[in-house]
Amino acid sequence: MEKNLAQFSNTYSQGLWIASFIFLVVALLRLFSVLKTKSSRHWIHPAKSGWFVIAIKLLFFVGLLAFLADIPVWFFTVAQFRPIAPKLPYWFFIFVMLYITIQEMILSLTASQALVDGFVKRMVFFLISIFCSFSFILAAFIVPTTYNYPPTSECVILNLPVKGTWLAMHAGKEKWVNYHSNYPPQRFAIDMVKLNEAGYFFNNNGEDSCDFNSFGDSVFAPSNGIVFALADGFPTQKIYAGDDSINPAGNYIEMKLAENKYLFLAHLKAGSLQINLGDTLREGQFIALSGNSGNSSFPHLHMHLQDKSIINDSLSSGLPFRFKLLERKRVFSWEKLENTWLIRNDQFRN
Ligand SMILES: [Zn+2]
Repeated sequence: MEKNLAQFSNTYSQGLWIASFIFLVVALLRLFSVLKTKSSRHWIHPAKSGWFVIAIKLLFFVGLLAFLADIPVWFFTVAQFRPIAPKLPYWFFIFVMLYITIQEMILSLTASQALVDGFVKRMVFFLISIFCSFSFILAAFIVPTTYNYPPTSECVILNLPVKGTWLAMHAGKEKWVNYHSNYPPQRFAIDMVKLNEAGYFFNNNGEDSCDFNSFGDSVFAPSNGIVFALADGFPTQKIYAGDDSINPAGNYIEMKLAENKYLFLAHLKAGSLQINLGDTLREGQFIALSGNSGNSSFPHLHMHLQDKSIINDSLSSGLPFRFKLLERKRVFSWEKLENTWLIRNDQFRN
């Protein structure tokens, strides 16, 4: 059992190398066996393969095409542990998955004579193809919805509440990229962690709150508003042991931005709040330090908007928000964007 995040990252890295190696060996063995029996294999063709084989092969091809679209979405955006994964084994695993999928797509356009002639072989292939194709196609339904977000006209426009380079651990509107979406008031909530130069969100072993870049980092008012409620004095939690279910937000600030628009910043560091109840805040004003209080696994900043004032009121709905101006890195490069929104694994800075 891993004792800390550094060990978890190590185990993750080893797992990726082993899985990549096994998948790659199996794929290469398959390629060699196909090449060895090349003479008994042909490109699918009505005269040589028969319509039944062609139909299954094409279904399988479409399933694999859907899987090809799933791969980047899963590995770049949906994967929860991407920020902990060491880069090289992670990219190598993605490369192996892409390689296998493309190889199988090409092979699915060919048929062996044994498959064309053998009834049992054909039935087995039929069942496997149906199962795989439909699960791949089903998985591909997440592809377009994942990157969907309410338009700017329906969003509250905010500034970033932090400075430096951060990463969104949970963000976006769908459950598979944002666990908050299971709770209506927190539908569009975002959990963010600060990254160091190397792109990791903790230093040393990640055993102590102080190991995290997010611990004690400055938080700024993301908008003009009035301090509507606050809580202070909740202690810093131990790593992966913060389960205060009575005060899940820990130390928090609630700002009233307008009628039916309440913004929450949670898990702040005890004693760091620089504001008082009823204060009028200007956007960009320093208000507190981020921390690890309440129901929190490790130091991070939680932010969400509700249409009612009581935190996590089951009758309230979460409101979507966008950021006025930021730089965002989703996959390869940094882009400067206006009125943009964030999704899991996006890196961002102002
Ligand atoms: Zn959260």
